[in-house]
Amino acid sequence: MLIRPASGAKVLWQEMLRHELLAAMENRAVVIVPVGSVEQHGPHCPQDVDISVPYHLALRTAETLAGEVPVLVAPPLLLGFTHYNMGEIGTITLGLETFIAVLCDVSRSIWANGFRRIVLLNGHGGNEQPTWVTAVKLAEEDVWALAVTYWSMAKDELLAWSEADGGSIGHGGEWETSLQLYLRPELVAMERAVKDEWRRTFGPEVGRYARFPERRREMAHGVMGDPLVASAAKGERLFAVLRERLAALCREYHATEPPRYREFGSHCP
Ligand SMILES: [Zn+2]
Repeated sequence: MLIRPASGAKVLWQEMLRHELLAAMENRAVVIVPVGSVEQHGPHCPQDVDISVPYHLALRTAETLAGEVPVLVAPPLLLGFTHYNMGEIGTITLGLETFIAVLCDVSRSIWANGFRRIVLLNGHGGNEQPTWVTAVKLAEEDVWALAVTYWSMAKDELLAWSEADGGSIGHGGEWETSLQLYLRPELVAMERAVKDEWRRTFGPEVGRYARFPERRREMAHGVMGDPLVASAAKGERLFAVLRERLAALCREYHATEPPRYREFGSHCP
């Protein structure tokens, strides 16, 4: 998963020399922290789907912007909050408080190094609200980060382009499988792919509020959505939109001054 940029562009935080990091900091670099999860993704996908997408997205965006907007990719946070994917073999979960604490520590460290533009780029549904909470918690300390879950950057396209999954990123379904077929086809076993039936506890009205019970209780194979309609071409199309949106976000973030701490009463004339 920890691939290096094919272009040779130097964008990985952990590979930089000190003077390179200093220059990036002085050039107001955007630092993207890929945030994911290692968990079961049905019988046909590898365990690291949810970190592979934000990691590849961050890397390719940083490469695309090289020479225009400085973007660094921080060491990815492979593990996330995913207790509800226990049951099928493969899931390794952090507790909710641990996840938030680790992400806060990583963000505080990047901030303490002088970087003022941090993007927490999340690729896992269970991390969505905890990543947002992390950004809120950091703001209390005047540390600023944007919490972005990647599929929220392409909601309209997902809805318009879905053949089976109705605009949902799913779990090992139409879109996650398509992205894997595009990014890492050698890791997907399509001959094992199945479409799971959802054993809903509640009807759709109440079901809106009942989130994240154990997947094994809800699905026979741990899949949400239909991987049988997935294709590399669909993955490529979605990835191109995501890269465009993330690049636009980085351009704007780079050009914008983050909120600054004001002394109490400093707003008074
Ligand atoms: Zn996933």
